[in-house]
Amino acid sequence: MTASADALPPLCRLESAHLAWRQEGDGEEAPHSTTFDDVYFSRHDGRAETEHVFIAANRLPERFAGWQASRPFVIGETGFGTGLNMLCAWACFDTHAPPAARLHLVSTEKFPLRRDDLARALSAWPDLAERAARLVAQWPEPVAGVHRLWLDARVTLDLHFGDTSERLALLDGRVDAWFLDGFAPAKNPEMWQPALFAAMAARSRPGATLATFTCAGVVKRGLAAAGFSWRKVPGFGRKREMLAGEIDEPAADRRRERTPWFSPPAPSRARHVAVIGAGIAGASTAAALARRGVTVTLIDREGAGSGGSGNAQGALYVKLAADTNFQSRTYLAGLLHSCRWLEALDPQRELWAPCGVLQLATSAKEQARQARFLAHHPLPESVVRGVTADQASRLAGTPIDHAGLEYPQAGWVRPAALCARLADRPGITLRRAEVLDMTPAAEGWSLTLADGEQLAADQVVVASASLANGFTQTASLPLQPVRGQVSRLTLPPGAPALERVICAGGYVSPALDGTLTFGATFAPRETEADVREADHAANLAELESTLPAFVDALRDAGARLDPDHLEGRAAVRAASPDKSPYAGPVPDAEAWQADYAGLAKDATRVPEAPGRHHAGLWISAAHGSRGLASAPLCAELLASRICDEPLPLEQPLVDHLHPGRRLIRDLVRGK
Ligand code: SAM
Repeated sequence: MTASADALPPLCRLESAHLAWRQEGDGEEAPHSTTFDDVYFSRHDGRAETEHVFIAANRLPERFAGWQASRPFVIGETGFGTGLNMLCAWACFDTHAPPAARLHLVSTEKFPLRRDDLARALSAWPDLAERAARLVAQWPEPVAGVHRLWLDARVTLDLHFGDTSERLALLDGRVDAWFLDGFAPAKNPEMWQPALFAAMAARSRPGATLATFTCAGVVKRGLAAAGFSWRKVPGFGRKREMLAGEIDEPAADRRRERTPWFSPPAPSRARHVAVIGAGIAGASTAAALARRGVTVTLIDREGAGSGGSGNAQGALYVKLAADTNFQSRTYLAGLLHSCRWLEALDPQRELWAPCGVLQLATSAKEQARQARFLAHHPLPESVVRGVTADQASRLAGTPIDHAGLEYPQAGWVRPAALCARLADRPGITLRRAEVLDMTPAAEGWSLTLADGEQLAADQVVVASASLANGFTQTASLPLQPVRGQVSRLTLPPGAPALERVICAGGYVSPALDGTLTFGATFAPRETEADVREADHAANLAELESTLPAFVDALRDAGARLDPDHLEGRAAVRAASPDKSPYAGPVPDAEAWQADYAGLAKDATRVPEAPGRHHAGLWISAAHGSRGLASAPLCAELLASRICDEPLPLEQPLVDHLHPGRRLIRDLVRGK
C-alpha cells in the first residue's frame, strides 16, 4: 500500500535556464531570462531589493536573533534562480543568529542555471564570493528531485528541482518564512496558481510569514483563499507596494488520509541518541546526528567499519530498473547524494574516487534491458549514458567486448576507512560493546549491554544489518542474511591498470595500494563469514568471463590468479524481501495488527488511526550490497526526521523506505 509510481512527476533531465547577459546603465552585466523575458536581479540594486522584499519583510534579523529552538529555522522559496535571496538569508543568519541556531533552506527550481552561468551571475556580489563558491561547488545535476547541499556546519540547502507546485506538494517538511519569488505573475502565470498557494499553506508552520515583490490581484486572491492574511507594505525602489503576510492556522496535511500508518511520530527529545552498528548505515547516521548537535553513542561489537562495511575497497554504484519505479528513484537519489556528500566530506579524495563505473551488458537480455532503461530515463549524460564496447574499452583502459552503461560520477570508496572517519568526530563516542536488548524507560530507552551495563539514551537507531531484527521491537521486520566474499590479488609490478570500476555479474575496481579487489559472491540465507577457496574460484571465473583480455594481461605480467593465492574477506549483509532499505521509525507491529486488521476485509476502508510506533526507535538497515549508495541518504532522512527538519526525499519515496511497508502489505493480504 505505498503510493503508485504516477504519484511522482517523471524522473527527467530538466531544461536549463536560457539566459541573456544584459548590460545595465552603468555597463555592468546582469542575467535576464529569455524564456520569461524578465530579470533575475538588477545589478544596480538587486541586493538592496532582496534585503527589503524578502529579508526585512519576513523580519528575519530579529527572528534569527531570537531563535532558540533545537530544530532549524526553515525558509521556503519559490524559484531559486541564481540563489541570491538564499545567500543573503544565509549572510543575515550568520550576522544575527546565536551560535547553536541552525538554518534550513528549501527552494524550488524548474529551470536550473548551468553551473558556469550560476558562477557568472553570482560574481556580481564579491562579498558573497565564499558563500557562492560553496553553492557552485555542490551545484547538482539538472535532474528532477531533491538535492541536499551542505552550505556550512549550520546551514543546509535542499534544492527541489521541478515545478514549484508539484514539488511543494511532495515536500515532507514545514516552513517558517516564505520567499514568494518567481518571475512576475504577468510573465509567468503558470506558476502563480491556486495549487501553489494551497501547497504553501499546507507546508507552513503556524505563524509562518511570507513576503513577495508583487501586489498582483491573482496573488492576493490566491493567498487569501489558501488561508494567508496579507497587507500591502512599501515596495522597493520604483515599486510602490509589495505584500507581506502570515498564516496562523496552516492547512491540514491530507496526504496521509489514505496511508495513516506512515504518519511520522511526533518529534521528541533527542539530546542523546544511541546508534547500534558502526557500519556505513550507523556511522553515517551518527555523523548526521552529531552535525546537528546531538550527542551520539555509537555502539558496535567489533568497532567502526566491520561487517559488510569492513572491506578496504567497495564499489559505489547502483543498478536501476529498466522502468522507473520507486526503488530506482530512491537509489538514483542515493547515488547522487553519496557523490555530493563524499565530495563535501573528503574533497581531497583520500577515502573515495569518482572514477566512473561501467555496467556491461554481457547478455542479450541485459542489452535489451539497458536499451529500455536509456529510452525511459532521459537523464544527463554526466549522470548515466550508453557506451559502445569501443568506448567502454577506451574508458576502462583495457579491451572490452560489451557495450554498457557509464555512470561517470560513481566509483569506489574505502568503506572501512570511511566508517572510521565518520565515527571520529566531536559529539560521537564509539563503544565496543554488544547490545542484548532495549527497553522503554521513563524518558527514552535503556539498553542492556553484554557486560551488564545499562545505557540510557533519548532515542535509538538500529543499524546492525542482518542483526537489526534481533530485538523484540524489530522482530517483525523481515530481513534476509546474504553472505558475500570479495577476493584480493596483490599485483606484480607492470600489471595492467583499470581506469574504471567494471560491473557485470560481479565488480572489479581499479587497483588500490597495489591490490586488485573483485567479487563479490552472493549467497542468500548464509550467515558464516569464513573465507572460502570455492568463493575465490567463483570470483575469478566471473572476472575472467567479464574481462578476459584484462585477465590474460594480468597473467602475462606474472599475477598469480589461483584461488589458493588470493586473499579475501567475507561478510554477511542484509536484504529486505523487496530489496529496498528500511529507513524510518520502527512500527509497533501489535498495534498495527489491532488498528489495521480490517484492511484484510476491505482495503478501501482506511481507518483514521495514525501509525503507532515504538516511540524514539528508528532503523536503517537492509542496504544489501548497495549501502554506499543508499545509507548516507537514509542517514540524512533519519537525522532530519529525528531533529524535526524537512526531509531530503519526496514523500512517496520516504514512504517507500518506511520499515512498516511489509507489515501493511501483509495485513491487506490477510496474512
Ligand atoms: N530567487 C531568485 C534569486 O535569488 O536569484 C530569483 C528568482 S527568478 C526571478 C525566478 C525563478 O523562478 C527562475 O529561476 C525561474 O526558472 C523559476 N521558475 C519559474 N517558474 C517556475 C516554476 N513553475 N517552478 C519552479 N521554478 C520556476
